[in-house]
Amino acid sequence: MTTFPQHNASDEEWTDWRWQMRHRVNDEATLARYIRITDGERHAIKATRGIFRWTITPYYASLMDAYDPQCPVRQHVVPQAPEVEPDIVGVVDPLDEVGHSPVKNLVHNYPDKVAFCVTSECAVYCRYCLRKRMVGDADYMMRKDELRDALGYIRETPAIRDVLLTGGDPLVFSDANIDWLLGELRAIPHVEVVRIGSRLPVVNPMRITPELCAVLQKHHPVWLNTHFNHPKELTPEASGAAARLADAGVPVGNQSVLLAGINDDAATLKALCEGLVGLRVRPYYLYHAQLIGGTAHLRTPIEKGMDLMREIRGHTSGFAVPAYVLDTPDGKVPLTRDYVLGRSGDHVVMRTTRGTLWAEPNPLGDYQPLTSVPEIPMPPEARTVPTGAPTFVHAEAV
Ligand SMILES: *Cc1c(COP(=O)(O)O)cnc(C)c1O
Ligand code: SF4
Repeated sequence: MTTFPQHNASDEEWTDWRWQMRHRVNDEATLARYIRITDGERHAIKATRGIFRWTITPYYASLMDAYDPQCPVRQHVVPQAPEVEPDIVGVVDPLDEVGHSPVKNLVHNYPDKVAFCVTSECAVYCRYCLRKRMVGDADYMMRKDELRDALGYIRETPAIRDVLLTGGDPLVFSDANIDWLLGELRAIPHVEVVRIGSRLPVVNPMRITPELCAVLQKHHPVWLNTHFNHPKELTPEASGAAARLADAGVPVGNQSVLLAGINDDAATLKALCEGLVGLRVRPYYLYHAQLIGGTAHLRTPIEKGMDLMREIRGHTSGFAVPAYVLDTPDGKVPLTRDYVLGRSGDHVVMRTTRGTLWAEPNPLGDYQPLTSVPEIPMPPEARTVPTGAPTFVHAEAV
């Protein structure tokens, strides 16, 4: 019998997704069994208390490099010192998701599709999370009657043909709850597409049990997008999870976030995309990092992302290439020369798919781009995020 020394777990415990959830690492003493914690990390653990919680499944913790503070897995989930430094452009809700929620946790920004945040709980808390304002926060948990209210809104809105179950992470729900939710959605005639956004195949791959796959299969077509960011995450366990989903007929896609110092080089991104294809997971989006407060150290110039895409497209299988996009309050914008109009000082100006103009605060710094984006005057009608908005506020974490 194998044992896992940091947690003294048996094989049977280690491969049980609920055991992984119950034994998450969220105190310094346990963390110290996995990594040599740096002073910066100790400081950030204290300084982020009550602002943004952290917790790590033992499985994901075991992928961290014990001695390298730059380890990409570690930077994902262990609070980092720059998180608590002032961040002048970072905001709480850059996509105005709250303003687009007709009922609690249901983001209706596109006419035909909704993002339904069925829970605020995740298995780990990614330090750059787009929904940092709400994940891990008890106020954004959904009671059954609140889930029913959101389902009622979808039922009464025939324009909605595509429902994305997200969060938080919907797969922290029990099989019975997932079965119930999918059944309710399937009973609505105008809901054609049901998809799930979940990071559990990456951070707790044990969650993808044959029983869960049987539930998903029952409600087909069910699509699932997961969230791998680095080749280190492509383990035999993750591969098994992806294979079980694919064998159950679930088309699996991947949404990555471009993160400075984690995956912002062509070799890493190419290895990630090709590794995903090997797992039968289709790279779908590469998101430009959002202006979330406390994540300035993870953002890249947009030209850098465009350069990276040029290094990948045409140099690997076409279906290994994701679309590089920026999410805005006016929807996702492909970051290609068709949409990016130019740079106006510290802003990149783009035309959204709705025809509006968006100016993303995005300093070039000393980066020397290969992709030439013309310098243009700021169009007066371009909208942008308000600068000087509060860096970060968060209710007490649960
Ligand atoms: C991204 C997103 C979707 C899904 O968009 P696709 O481009 O169809 O994958 C749906 N709703 C919201 C609010 C989103 O941000
Ligand atoms: S799993 Fe997804 S929703 Fe949860 S913290 Fe990470 S990025 Fe955010």
